[in-house]
Amino acid sequence: MEHPLQFKDLGLDNRLLKNLNHYGFKQATDIQRQAIPVAVAGKDLLASSKTGSGKTLAFVLPMLHKALKTKAFSARDPRAVILAPTRELAKQVYGELRSMLGGLSYTATLILGGENFNDQVKALRRYPKFIVATPGRLADHLEHRSLFLDGVDTLILDEADRMLDLGFAPELRRIHNAAKHRRRQTLMFSATLDHAEVNDIAVEMLNDPKRISIGHANSEHTDITQSFYLCDHLDHKEAILNRILEEADYKQVIIFTATRVDTERLTKELNEKKLKAVALSGNLNQTQRNTIMSQFERAVFKILVTTDVASRGLDIANVTHVINFDMPKHTEEYVHRVGRTGRAGNKGTALSLVGPKDWDSFKRVEAFLQQSIEFSVLDGLKGKFKGLNPRKPNVKKGDAAKNKRQHVKKAAKKKPVKRDKSYYQNVSVGDDVFIPKKKKPQE
Ligand code: ADP
Ligand code: MG
Repeated sequence: MEHPLQFKDLGLDNRLLKNLNHYGFKQATDIQRQAIPVAVAGKDLLASSKTGSGKTLAFVLPMLHKALKTKAFSARDPRAVILAPTRELAKQVYGELRSMLGGLSYTATLILGGENFNDQVKALRRYPKFIVATPGRLADHLEHRSLFLDGVDTLILDEADRMLDLGFAPELRRIHNAAKHRRRQTLMFSATLDHAEVNDIAVEMLNDPKRISIGHANSEHTDITQSFYLCDHLDHKEAILNRILEEADYKQVIIFTATRVDTERLTKELNEKKLKAVALSGNLNQTQRNTIMSQFERAVFKILVTTDVASRGLDIANVTHVINFDMPKHTEEYVHRVGRTGRAGNKGTALSLVGPKDWDSFKRVEAFLQQSIEFSVLDGLKGKFKGLNPRKPNVKKGDAAKNKRQHVKKAAKKKPVKRDKSYYQNVSVGDDVFIPKKKKPQE
C-alpha cells in the first residue's frame, strides 16, 4: 500500500506511542498495521508473515493496550501469557515486551525450562501481570498449582508451528484449558498457516479468528456498505439522521446512541414525525426487552433506537440499515453493531455520524478497516468540523531530538534498534517494573 501507516494511526494508547517513540519506532510494518487494529478490536487472530517482519510488537502492543484500557478479570492471575517455542525466542520476546513497559506500572516474568523452579514459584507469587514462557515449564507450574490462568484475557502463541513441531501440543492444550473462558482473546502467529497441526490447534483454541497472511491476497468481500458523515453538534447530527431516514430505502433500521437519554429523546422525536420507532435501553427489565425485540422482529416497529445493549448477537434479517448516531467507544463494538445488517448474504448499509467527541473512536475504526475513509456529505448539510489533529505522544524535547537521530541512523542501516549492553542482563526472573534506560549521550 502506498500510504505507510504510522503507529500513531493504529489507535494505540498514548503511553505505548511514547515508548515506541523512545526507541525510534514510527512506521509500523505490514504485519503490525494489519494485525494491531484487528487485535485491538478484540478479535482472535491467526497470522503469518516472514521472520523479522515485526510480529512481536504486533501482539505485544495490542496486549498492553488492552491491559491499559480494560479492567483485569482477576487481581492475582496474569492478564496475558505469551508462549514461545524456545528459551531464546522467549527471552527475545520478553526483552521486547519490557521495552514497551517503560513508564507503565506493570510487572512481567519470564518462565523458562532449565531454570530454577522454586525461584520461578517465588516470582509467580508476586502476581506478575504478564508472563512470557516456554510451554513445558508453564504447564509444570499449572500442575504444581503455582499459577492459575483463569484471569487471562489474552493468550498469545508465537511461532505456533514450531511449538507443535517440538511436540508441545499437549502442553498447549493444558494451558488453553486452564485459561478457557468466553472472553479470552487468542492471538496465534505461525510462519505458515498450511501446517495441518496448526489448523487443528487453531480450530480448538481460536474463536472465529481473522486470518492475516502477509504476502498472500487477503481481500475481504463484504456485503455492507459503510459511510461516515462529519457532524458539528447534536442538532447537526439530528438533521443528518432525519435526512438519511427520509432518503434511505430501508426495511428496518437500528440506531445506536451513546446514552439512554439520547435513545429516549430520539425515539420521541421520531414518533412525533410519525415514524414507527421504539427505544430499547438498559433500564428495561428482561421481559420488557424481550417484548420490544419480538415486536421489532415482527416489524411492528421499523426503527429500533438503542445503546450498545443490542449490538451483540441480534440476527434480524430485515435490518437493512445500521446508523451510529454516536460512534461506539470500542472498535469491537463497531464491528458488532455494523454486523447487525448485511446478514446471511443480504446487502446492508452502515452509516456513522462523527462529531468531535466521536473522533478518536472513528480513527480507531478507520485503522481497523485499513482504508482511509472519505466522508460523505448531504446536500445543504455540510458542517464545519473537519476532524481533529492526532494527539502527539508526550515526549520531552531532548528525547525527541535523540530519537530522531536514532531513527535516521537506523533507517540508513536498516538494522534493528540497538539496545544498551545492560539490556538483556536486565532480564531476570520475576523482577519488577522495567524502565527503559535512556541512552547516555555518546562521548
Ligand atoms: P518476527 O517476530 O517477525 O521475526 P520481530 O518482532 O522479532 O520479528 O522483529 C524483528 C526486529 O525488528 C526486532 O529487532 C524489532 O525490534 C524490530 N522492529 C519491529 N517492529 C519495528 C518497526 N515498526 N520499526 C522498526 N523496527 C522494528
Ligand atoms: Mg518472532
